[in-house]
Amino acid sequence: MSSESPWDVALAQLDQAARIMNLESGVHEVLRRPRRALEVAVPVRLDDGAVHVFTGYRVHHNTSRGPSKGGLRYHPAVTLDEVKALAMWMTWKCAVVGIPYGGAKGGVVVDPKRLSSGELERMTRRYAYEILPLIGPERDIPAPDLGTNEQIMAWIMDTYSTSAGFSVPGVVTGKPASIGGSKGRRQATARGVMYITLATLKHLGMPVEDARVVVQGFGNVGGGTVELLADQGCRIVAVSDVHGGVYNPRGLSPQGLFAYRERTGHVHGFEGGDPISNEELLELECDVLVPAAIEGQLTERNADRVQAAMIVEAANGPTTPEADEIFEDRGIRVVPDILANAGGVTVSYFEWVQDLQAYYWSEDDVNDRLRTIMERAYVDVLEKADEQKVSMRIAATILGVDRVAEAHRTRGLYP
Ligand code: NAD
Repeated sequence: MSSESPWDVALAQLDQAARIMNLESGVHEVLRRPRRALEVAVPVRLDDGAVHVFTGYRVHHNTSRGPSKGGLRYHPAVTLDEVKALAMWMTWKCAVVGIPYGGAKGGVVVDPKRLSSGELERMTRRYAYEILPLIGPERDIPAPDLGTNEQIMAWIMDTYSTSAGFSVPGVVTGKPASIGGSKGRRQATARGVMYITLATLKHLGMPVEDARVVVQGFGNVGGGTVELLADQGCRIVAVSDVHGGVYNPRGLSPQGLFAYRERTGHVHGFEGGDPISNEELLELECDVLVPAAIEGQLTERNADRVQAAMIVEAANGPTTPEADEIFEDRGIRVVPDILANAGGVTVSYFEWVQDLQAYYWSEDDVNDRLRTIMERAYVDVLEKADEQKVSMRIAATILGVDRVAEAHRTRGLYP
């Protein structure tokens, strides 16, 4: 059976880990369900005077290890199942990097590019108001994800603070520095992807200099990854966004790409390379393939044709379990999302700590601490993979599930 829904994928991964680690059935059953899931109607007055009602969600998957944490996604294909899957992955991710959070996620079914700035602000504030009972610095802390950014976090922070009657910077992370954002947060996910890519190249005995890198998605995470890996000496041979991509086996200029995207709003048509579709991009010969867009990109339909030496999952859930098996058989190393893209939530944790203490760190401090955490998590996952003779994905899931299960057992079941 092919498991294309992100929730099916997330459950299949949990079930597989639970089987291997002999997880007791009571804990397994608890972890298979989100702790709570809220659906909200979000009525917004559009600029032309009409009212449109958007649908929003906020899901807390698990809070055994601390308040829940997870991004907010604005995308027309958002579903409750997707948000549940993303929340479950957040639970394992926070546990894998050892930060004291559970997992959550939010989403609104909307194409943010089709709203004016005023409409986007009104929609964000009304959504924030509707989920007020679920969020807060000691409860659940949203952050940016696909389709959201610093400005959206600022509006949520302001809406929450207005309702509280005083400023509450710790209610969201990934906000602008002027209202309590952390240095280094904007590039944190990409920086984590960079540290993990360097560690994997080293582990596989491959040189960093001139390593050929292909990146799908040129947003916060994909764009940052391109910039940081190019700084390390890697050769960026292809990139894409939702409209299509561009390819040059001799290498693309990151500065040229950013300038072109600034001018046109997309990367296809960039004069420094040839046009390529998103499907073709995933099948290019390269050393490192970085999916940095959406779920379900590497499936049983294309996994046989992927020609990368390794896949570093910057996106959440880009690979289905069927594709995972094919990559395993073909000896293609997959570094899973819950490890590879954990840099974002790690610096979000740093931001929250700084907000709670009202004491802010230097960018070097943030980056050094991030590097320490990512490299330690990488070693933890590798050791687990060696010990259990499983893939890095299963190892990371086992590690995450084990830490969450331990917290759950220690706290006990109420009543
Ligand atoms: P973003 O909105 O900034 O950028 C997304 C990029 O993907 C854009 O270039 C968009 O054009 C492209 N894209 C969208 N749909 C596509 C498709 N069908 N095919 C090809 N490209 C497509 O989002 P982001 O914050 O960079 O997030 C990207 C991924 O990284 C998501 O899976 C997200 O969950 C994950 N992630 C983000 C963070 C974070 O801190 N922002 C942290 C961890 C994981």
